[in-house]
Amino acid sequence: MKMKKFYYFEPEGFATALALLAEHKGRAKILAGGTELIPQMKRGLTFPEVIINLSRVPGLREMKEGPEGLSMGALVTLGVLERSPLIASRYPGLHEAVGHLAVPAIRNAGTIGGNICLDTKCIYGDQMQTWERAFAPCFKRGGKKCYVVPGDKTCHASLAADTIPILVALEAKAKVVSLKGEKTIPVENLFTGNGIRPHSLSPVEILTEIILPLQEKGMSSVYRRFSLRKAIDFPLASAAVCLKKKEGFCEEARVVLGAVASRPLRLALVEGALKGEEIREQILQECSRQASEEALRISKSGRIDSFSKTMITCLVYQTLKRAWLAEG
Ligand SMILES: Cc1cc2nc3c(=O)[nH]c(=O)nc-3n(C[C@H](O)[C@H](O)[C@H](O)COP(=O)(O)OP(=O)(O)OC[C@H]3O[C@@H](n4cnc5c(N)ncnc54)[C@H](O)[C@@H]3O)c2cc1C
Ligand code: SF4
Repeated sequence: MKMKKFYYFEPEGFATALALLAEHKGRAKILAGGTELIPQMKRGLTFPEVIINLSRVPGLREMKEGPEGLSMGALVTLGVLERSPLIASRYPGLHEAVGHLAVPAIRNAGTIGGNICLDTKCIYGDQMQTWERAFAPCFKRGGKKCYVVPGDKTCHASLAADTIPILVALEAKAKVVSLKGEKTIPVENLFTGNGIRPHSLSPVEILTEIILPLQEKGMSSVYRRFSLRKAIDFPLASAAVCLKKKEGFCEEARVVLGAVASRPLRLALVEGALKGEEIREQILQECSRQASEEALRISKSGRIDSFSKTMITCLVYQTLKRAWLAEG
């Protein structure tokens, strides 16, 4: 499909980039690696009037260690993370997540910031515009119905980006800038749960940095996903776990699901059930069953059907087991 005309800018600093965003509020889009934005424009799913390419803004491709942990600029590519020995040794869950994502060509262009800001996915909402000649548009396309959960009043498209669940489980933080200044917030707070507008970033804000906290001794991190195809396919469900172990007992657990709702789901009840326990087969089985019940309850989403519940139970079981057996 032919793209609509747009104005294109390559600012050399944040001041210009932010001024452009403010001037074209709501009509401008940030371009990072372009592996999501450009296909979306070609398919007629988004029509920005202005594109602001961040590639010439200094510092956004840097990775540096500091007292808070490891900071990654928003333009660090997924390929760089995949090849980083530091990520592989300290944050193996993130390393697995980027290694499973798409294919090398996309990982070498796609960025961590773009992955976090990825739009929600749905087989009905992601169709070319021509599809609407046969089917009335759904909520996400400005219509009045949802095909996934008929009768419901909101969009349940899934937030399927692979890095999100593990970043939430690692309790990563995000730096965001606007003309008003800079703020640092937990990555978990970047998501709204609304399939139409899944991010809390306003149209005049830029995600600049992601900070991975230092990992305590005994902490392991694991990510697993389920997709219909092994390559070039978004996950239908994913699970990320961080476990802190001491002398055979679980001191702390963080369990997060991805791709089953319009936001990552952190399972507080499962985390509570694991804390302080000696991890045995029975606990793993109980917690993985509890995970699908908790996901259904907190997501308030008709999207989680019996197939999703089975996927969640299996994924949480496998992920917990691997986190338990992994070296911390
Ligand atoms: C064939 C194919 C397979 C794919 N498979 C997967 C997969 O398995 N798993 C997966 O997670 N993803 C997958 N993707 C999606 C995508 O390519 C990646 O998630 C990638 O990380 C997006 O990053 P990008 O830099 O290319 O983002 P862009 O396309 O440049 O931007 C994506 C969105 O984020 C916004 N944005 C980007 N950076 C910022 C910023 N710093 N601040 C504010 N907003 C920003 C943009 O405005 C845009 O709306 C796939 C894509 C393709 C084409
Ligand atoms: S889940 Fe969202 S994108 Fe999918 S059909 Fe429903 S409204 Fe449309």
